[in-house]
Amino acid sequence: MAGFLSKLNPAGTRPAFFEAANKPILGTGASPDSSTPRKGSELNDYNHGNYRGRDPIEPRIIYKIEPRARRISIKLDAAGRMAIVTAPHDRDLPAARKFAQKKSDWIKVHLQELPPAQPFAHGKKIYFKGALTQIISEEGRARPKFQPSYIDEELGEKVPAQLIVPAPHGTLEGRMRRFLIRQAREALEPATYKYADMLGKQVTKITVRDTKSRWGSCAQNGHISYSWRLICAPDWVLDYVAAHEAAHLVEANHSQDFWDVVDTLVDSADAGRKWLNRHGSKLHAVGAPY
Ligand SMILES: [Zn+2]
Repeated sequence: MAGFLSKLNPAGTRPAFFEAANKPILGTGASPDSSTPRKGSELNDYNHGNYRGRDPIEPRIIYKIEPRARRISIKLDAAGRMAIVTAPHDRDLPAARKFAQKKSDWIKVHLQELPPAQPFAHGKKIYFKGALTQIISEEGRARPKFQPSYIDEELGEKVPAQLIVPAPHGTLEGRMRRFLIRQAREALEPATYKYADMLGKQVTKITVRDTKSRWGSCAQNGHISYSWRLICAPDWVLDYVAAHEAAHLVEANHSQDFWDVVDTLVDSADAGRKWLNRHGSKLHAVGAPY
C-alpha cells in the first residue's frame, strides 16, 4: 500500500484563482481531539474527531485537522479511497481548500486509478466470495441470504448470483455491512481454528472489522483480527490469510521461517499474496459510496 501513498505540499501562498464557497463547507465539528472517528460511520460522516468534512464538489476529498502538522499537505489513502487534506488548525481550512483546488488535477488522476465504487444499493453488484454478485433489496425484515447463480430452465438464461437482503427504508447499508461481517466471521473462524490446531497453538480471540491497512493481524496474546472484506475475495484467498495469521502464532515476523510455517498449512501463499496485491483495491471498493 505504501507505494500508493504520495504527498504534496503547498508551494507558498499564491493568489488563489478559486474563491472559497460562500456557505460553510467544512462542517461544524467538535474540537480536534474530542473523539476518534466512530466505527462504521467513517464513510458517511466526516464531521467528528479531527475530520472536518468532505469537499462540497469532490466528496472523495476529506479535510482533517492535525495539530502536529506543520503545514497543509495532501495524502492519498488508497484503502479509504480518498485524498486527505491535512491542516494544522481550523483557521487553515480555507487555505487547505484552495490548495486542494489547485491540485485538483493531480488528485483526480490518482482517484481515477481506483476501481469503481460498489455501493450497497439495490440492483448494484459487489464482489462476494470472489464473484460479482447482485444486491436485491426489497422492503422487509427477513434474514439476508445468498443465492448462487443458476440456469433458469424456462428462460434458458443464467441468473447471476444474488445477495437477497430485505431492508426497511434507509437501512440497507448497515444490514449489508453486518451481513458481510457475519459471513466473514463464519468463514474465518473455522479456518483460523483449523490452522491453529495444526500448529498446536491457541487462538484467544478473533475479531472481524473494517481494518484499513491490513487484511489480518495477530497479536502476541493470540488475538487475531481480520478485515471483513476478505469475504469478498475468493475462498482460497480468505483461507490463505487465515493460515498466514495462524502462522504468526509460531513466528511473529515475516522471516523465511515464518513462510516455511505457512507452507506447511497451505500451498497458496504465493498466489494469495499476489492476488491481494493485485486485487486488494477492489475489495476496498465494496460498499464505497463514491
Ligand atoms: Zn503477516
